[in-house]
Amino acid sequence: MAETIHKLVIIGSGPAGWTAAIYAARANLDPVVVVGVPKQDPGPVLPGGQLMLTTEVENYPGFPEGVAGPEMMMKFQAQAERFGTEILGEDITRCEFVPGGPHTLHTSEGRAIRAHAVIIATGATANWIGLESEMRLARAGGGVSACAVCDGALPFFRNQPLAVVGGGDTAMEEATYLTKFASTVHVIHRRDTLRASKVMQERLLSKPNARVEWNKAVVDCLSEGEVGKNEKLRAVVLEDTVTGERSELRVKGLFVAIGHTPSTKFLRGTALEFDDKGYISLATRHSHTNIDGVFAAGDVADSEYRQAVTAAGMGCAAALDAERWLGRKGLA
Ligand code: NAP
Repeated sequence: MAETIHKLVIIGSGPAGWTAAIYAARANLDPVVVVGVPKQDPGPVLPGGQLMLTTEVENYPGFPEGVAGPEMMMKFQAQAERFGTEILGEDITRCEFVPGGPHTLHTSEGRAIRAHAVIIATGATANWIGLESEMRLARAGGGVSACAVCDGALPFFRNQPLAVVGGGDTAMEEATYLTKFASTVHVIHRRDTLRASKVMQERLLSKPNARVEWNKAVVDCLSEGEVGKNEKLRAVVLEDTVTGERSELRVKGLFVAIGHTPSTKFLRGTALEFDDKGYISLATRHSHTNIDGVFAAGDVADSEYRQAVTAAGMGCAAALDAERWLGRKGLA
């Protein structure tokens, strides 16, 4: 039997991946979307991407009342499936890209998938401070997390002092969410001005139980209980980034919200080009990468905007670029 070579495989199932699939399916490209498998990395990484870890999306046009992130991703998926998108619940672990294609994608189940065109839409995952104590407590479920929305409502955080590290929109969003459960939410920021948009800053700062610890870095997490058994966070050690002075802040939960890293590990060993921040480099105004027949869309190729709506727009562009590329080769 002749080996199947798909016209288009899309890796990733956030707004970019699903939008690419909707456009590609409607163009009869019979796309396959590789959605990935859930994992702890050490925080949660889910098919559907970062929106699966977001409560309310208020800035996606068309949802005047807002929409829950997971609900929005289910709608994206349903729309892609309606037009015949095939879904594969595996991870891509390694890629063999051949300029002009076909390309070979190796999956976590040991399979090799072949495709004339590939769209990479694997997004980005949350960053960690990188402290040994932070990672140990995060892995143990001991009160350190990179997702307030996933973990903040747990009973042992209720009416307790909690902290969020970071000064961007994510930190504001997570801290605002936590003010519903916590006695106090401390936002720990390494500078004296926040990076977050004014509206998000104001929303947080209007909460009576929110406060910002300016010019502070978390340098250690102190715990109680037994390591490897029932260890739980009891305080963080802060260092003043101006004076170097150290202090302890008693908190039961630490939520790390210090940005994201593009998910590109599986692309190691390929000839793809990346920018100096590690995001996939794209041709100006297009979704083409430096490898003919390989396209990228969404946060994995965008360190600048990183919004659901911009990712969706990039997914659309990538599907159109792939369709035209396949057409030029007589494959569409
Ligand atoms: P971000 O804007 O890159 O902000 C990261 C924050 O973490 C910055 O304040 C940064 O400090 C701090 N930081 C970075 N590395 C650190 C470290 N090692 N230790 C301590 N602090 C560190 O990331 P983001 O907040 O995740 O937002 C990403 C994008 O998503 C943005 O475009 C944002 O607008 C968007 N977003 C939008 C919404 C919304 O509109 N609903 C919600 C969430 C995110 P410095 O400021 O000192 O660099």
